[in-house]
Amino acid sequence: MAINTEKYQEIINELKGKATLVAVSKTKPVEDIKTLCDLGQRDFGENYVQELVDKQPLLPNDVRWHFIGHLQSNKVKFIAPFVHLIHGVDSLKLLQEINKQAAKNNRVIDCLLQVHIAKEETKFGMDEVELNEAISQLANMPMKNVRVAGLMGMASFSEDVDLVRSEFKYLKGLFDKVTGESPAIGQRPTINSSLSTANCQLSTLSMGMSGDYKIAIEEGSNMVRIGSLIFGERNYNK
Ligand SMILES: *Cc1c(COP(=O)(O)O)cnc(C)c1O
Repeated sequence: MAINTEKYQEIINELKGKATLVAVSKTKPVEDIKTLCDLGQRDFGENYVQELVDKQPLLPNDVRWHFIGHLQSNKVKFIAPFVHLIHGVDSLKLLQEINKQAAKNNRVIDCLLQVHIAKEETKFGMDEVELNEAISQLANMPMKNVRVAGLMGMASFSEDVDLVRSEFKYLKGLFDKVTGESPAIGQRPTINSSLSTANCQLSTLSMGMSGDYKIAIEEGSNMVRIGSLIFGERNYNK
């Protein structure tokens, strides 16, 4: 299926002032990415290290590459020279490796902590306890080359709109807690002290894909990752 630039424009207008669009280009040809670049799109998401490393030199230097897949520690070094934001960080061990590789490249790499919000077993991410632990531990870790910039989550792949909405609502609730913005509760957030650290400045909430981004926006997402709606269905067996 071909790229749909009309749909792209429609989504851009819909998201204006609300959320950043990460156009998910995995498995899609460089020509399609260039088409969107010509329309002004700069944020692109990829899931596979080798594919990203192959595509990056073929596209303009000012493209912001988002790594949205499951990142293995031994592959961080390949994307560290240029990656803009790593969405799926689910352990401090991985964060330490990103810090190490970022330092070698004289960079500070922004990362999002992935939270497991779906009912499905297969999705990666931390649970609430692990998230709180990670954020409070961060305050005592000397990592100068990473910055935790927010949270990321994937809802269940389901037609059940109420289920998907409740999962996004849950993640937004966690986000509000860790950013210290829980207006409904009116009490001091428990881990607010960690906000003052340089390596943890949470402002990005990455949630929503082709099938559920409208719900995600309604629930407070400020970054969506949309692939097939713009680029067409993916064919993994090319
Ligand atoms: C592939 C992928 C997307 C985009 O999925 P679509 O349904 O094609 O929009 C978004 N987020 C992650 C983590 C992905 O792996």
